[in-house]
Amino acid sequence: MVGFRARTRRSLLALLGAAIAGIGAATPARARTSKAAAAYRGAPNGRQSCANCSYFNPPSGCGVVSGAVSARGWCNLWG
Ligand code: SF4
Repeated sequence: MVGFRARTRRSLLALLGAAIAGIGAATPARARTSKAAAAYRGAPNGRQSCANCSYFNPPSGCGVVSGAVSARGWCNLWG
């Protein structure tokens, strides 16, 4: 015989699972901006460049702009 506490715990786990699944379904993967939309260019803007941008993922990735970027590049999403 299953006790009240075990049933309650199982119900809470089921609710938690459903909530987590709901959050996953409601949160799409973040789409990256195209280079054209971000006005990406292969040259720095003064002291700002991909190399010192918080979105840069060496050696050539960017967290917000799609495609390969250069460490010496820059776009208007720099930050
Ligand atoms: S400057 Fe633009 S392209 Fe370069 S890393 Fe930052 S956000 Fe990405």
